[in-house]
Amino acid sequence: MAITADYYPEANIKQIKILGSRIIIELQNLAETPDITAKLKQKLNDVYPEHKVSVIFVEEKKANLSTDAIEKWQIDGVKKIIGVASGKGGVGKSTTAVNLALALSNLGKKVALVDADIYGPSVPTMLGYEGEPLYSIDGKYFAPFESYGIESTSVGALIDRDTPLIWRGAKACGAIEQLMTETQWNNIDVMVIDMPPGTGDIQITLSQRVDFAGIVIVSTPQDIALIDAVKGVNMFEKIGTPILGIVENMSYFICPHCGERSDIFGHNGAKETAERMGEVFLGEIPLEMAIRTASDNGTPIVAVEPDSPHAKAYEEIAHKIIQRIG
Ligand code: ADP
Repeated sequence: MAITADYYPEANIKQIKILGSRIIIELQNLAETPDITAKLKQKLNDVYPEHKVSVIFVEEKKANLSTDAIEKWQIDGVKKIIGVASGKGGVGKSTTAVNLALALSNLGKKVALVDADIYGPSVPTMLGYEGEPLYSIDGKYFAPFESYGIESTSVGALIDRDTPLIWRGAKACGAIEQLMTETQWNNIDVMVIDMPPGTGDIQITLSQRVDFAGIVIVSTPQDIALIDAVKGVNMFEKIGTPILGIVENMSYFICPHCGERSDIFGHNGAKETAERMGEVFLGEIPLEMAIRTASDNGTPIVAVEPDSPHAKAYEEIAHKIIQRIG
């Protein structure tokens, strides 16, 4: 059954999107009561028990795509910032962000990772600090979480997992700004931001407010994902945020029994798309069970099996990123 904006007439729904395993409901009117959103969430949970449902409010006004000088957030203790973005959810953006952050660290950089994915913050799970509260050092600054030699923080630490996420775009950006500017980062060479998927207001505001060295776009090889990846590239370019390149995730599968390679979702789509758009192709990551289980267990593959071929695939991409941002 397809779900559409008139699915629940009692609520003023602007749009319902299915992003991978998440359902995002955008409501236009802040006056919608928590009661309605809870009922709506329940209804969707019953029909889609496997999906995670988030409810957000969106601003009425159209996002300003201006490239004029907009004041940047001041993020102390950090030299370079890169974003990991995707045109749609479920393509492995967070998995890529976490493993790239760890690969950059393995290459000798001091790394911080900010989980700004308000629709489904997964960094605390992947880095093994799920459920731990934010800790304030002096009433002014938060201490970063520390795992596997990198510092990090997550909007997940601000969200109650069991209640629907009821944040307007501006509020979500405020929370991300607070986490980025009020965490005591310690001499960070590269900060990696796991961006929310898609090309909405929050992504636009982030790219205007953060002084990015560049953006890494993650896509799977399917046409449908690549169309969204192209939208992402176009949005960042319109704002004047440099693109570092495109990564193809879940690129191919090596059979653990016979060693044969299968291009399950097709192959080279991201490479061809990058070439067509004049962007750099940064590399490909295989579809690999160990990558998923390691993330789910809070033991990311690059941290616990740094010499595995999968970890090396992330390291090669990290190497190219360092070359590009200097
Ligand atoms: P996104 O951030 O784009 O929504 P995630 O990083 O949360 O996507 O990944 C979605 C699911 O796919 C997760 O279960 C993750 O473990 C899995 N996954 C991501 N990349 C790979 C990969 N290369 N091989 C196997 N599983 C992967």
